[in-house]
Amino acid sequence: MSEHAPTALETLRHSCAHVMADAVKTLFPEAKVTIGPSIENGFYYDFDVPRPFSEDDLKAIESQMRKIAGKNLPFERQEITREEARELFEKLGESYKLEILDAIPAGETVTLYRHGEFVDLCRGPHVEHTGKVRAFKLLNTAGAYWRGDENNAMLQRIYGTAFPSPKELDEYLAFLEEAKKRDHRRLGKDLDLFSINETIGGGLVLWHPKGGRIRMTLEDFWRQRHLEHGYEIVYTPHIAREELWHQSGHLGFYKESMFSGMEVEGQPYLIKPMNCPYHIQIYKNNLHSYRDLPYRWAELGTVYRFERSGVLHGLFRVRGFTQDDAHIFMRRDQMAEELTTVFHFSLNMLKAFGFTDFVCRLATRPEGKSTGSEEIWTEATARLREVLEAWGGEYEVDEGGGAFYGPKIDIALKDSLGRQWQCSTIQLDFNLPERFDMTFINANSERERLIMVHRALLGSIERFFGILLEHYAGRLPLWLAPEQFRVVTVTNDQDAWASEVAGLLNARKFRATADLRPEKLNFKIRDAQMQKIPVILVVGKREVEERAVTLRTTDENTGKMIPIEEIFAMMEPQAEWPVIL
Ligand SMILES: [Zn+2]
Ligand SMILES: [Zn+2]
Repeated sequence: MSEHAPTALETLRHSCAHVMADAVKTLFPEAKVTIGPSIENGFYYDFDVPRPFSEDDLKAIESQMRKIAGKNLPFERQEITREEARELFEKLGESYKLEILDAIPAGETVTLYRHGEFVDLCRGPHVEHTGKVRAFKLLNTAGAYWRGDENNAMLQRIYGTAFPSPKELDEYLAFLEEAKKRDHRRLGKDLDLFSINETIGGGLVLWHPKGGRIRMTLEDFWRQRHLEHGYEIVYTPHIAREELWHQSGHLGFYKESMFSGMEVEGQPYLIKPMNCPYHIQIYKNNLHSYRDLPYRWAELGTVYRFERSGVLHGLFRVRGFTQDDAHIFMRRDQMAEELTTVFHFSLNMLKAFGFTDFVCRLATRPEGKSTGSEEIWTEATARLREVLEAWGGEYEVDEGGGAFYGPKIDIALKDSLGRQWQCSTIQLDFNLPERFDMTFINANSERERLIMVHRALLGSIERFFGILLEHYAGRLPLWLAPEQFRVVTVTNDQDAWASEVAGLLNARKFRATADLRPEKLNFKIRDAQMQKIPVILVVGKREVEERAVTLRTTDENTGKMIPIEEIFAMMEPQAEWPVIL
């Protein structure tokens, strides 16, 4: 529940929650009501009931809600004293409302909102009458602890959504349907790409051969493009002595997110939640001259961070993941050029995967404690702002939203369903160079403090892979597809030619297989389509005679017979890795 004045949509949704609570109390008089706020895409209400709500219960509640809406009952606001409120909710047996009442600060007005027989302790505001609530839908139920505390009673939450018009509601429900079809957890299972299981542990991902193939292509591409853009690749261990994490400050401000450690020959070690301190140690292994800078050191670095099991979610929220990390170590006079370059490298990397729409956010110096002089903050923030201005795309400024150690730019991409995913981050850091006393020898032979940038372009490989799957609904572009071609035969008489076609494709570095099973053609085509294989090559009697194939893509049956050499020429450009300028 946010502190801003509620928008019209939030008011509508919250009013709908009242209507739902009324319906629940009518159908389940023993239910106790708790709270019912509006949330990002709708609303919920938590009830204390003896058993969870069923699908049928939801339908019954919905139809009761329609009756209430049909009555156009006005929402009436009433100010009362605490004593009156206490008496009322005691009489109603609403013990949770009594707890809420006790939590209202002294001096604040206590208000009730009524419609018909239903009364709720609430700050408001609400719509005029229940008839305004007409385009709504109950979505699902879930268990939820009272006040989110697992020591409290388990309540039953009903989620719903509401819109000003039926048209908007229908659009949203269609969007939900589409999002469900594209759910990466479902695609991961159907296409046999990855799994997460309780034997290994929550939030720890197993990459299956086909998922591994995609990941390998993605990583090879990433490394190659980094080398071309002046980066060097480094590798660092998964654990390090506790002392390192003291010096980096992680044990001070990040301890809750770190896995507990282990002892090695009497020394405490911890599992890494970040790669930065390792790259810093590489830097500190030598003296560096101003002429050697900048360094751009990249690592696909696997890190482990503790997340509560309740928030884990497929590949989107995990406990072990691989950051596409890099650190840039540079002189102050290199800031403008480096920041411009890394920003465009980020955008172009995301574009290479087919994303075209981006929203950027600039986060500036927070109030209070921050590391680094006023002057360096001002300069760095100005440089970041210039980068965004010169780019000319959509960006917002989060004033004071930066970390204590430096300003940053975050880049979010919009996927095919219009959802935003923050992937790239480019962060200046004035803190770690101090903590680790990182310097270079300047032109006057003096030690000078260097400037450090942390950056990740895709964010984490796991999460980005999940985003890609949902964006493409599993139908990855040819260059990423684990199996690019499936050669299918009409009858087994064509097996020899089909195997030869697959062999010829594989010899040209395509990824192809031949389906020689003694099954019907349509069955084999259907199977290849279910596997989201981008190109299906059909081989029958005529194709054998002509050394040709008939081309079918995921979307269409071209019916065109094409000589195999032409297929190579046609597919090569599509299978090539995207170029990043
Ligand atoms: Zn209310
Ligand atoms: Zn870092």
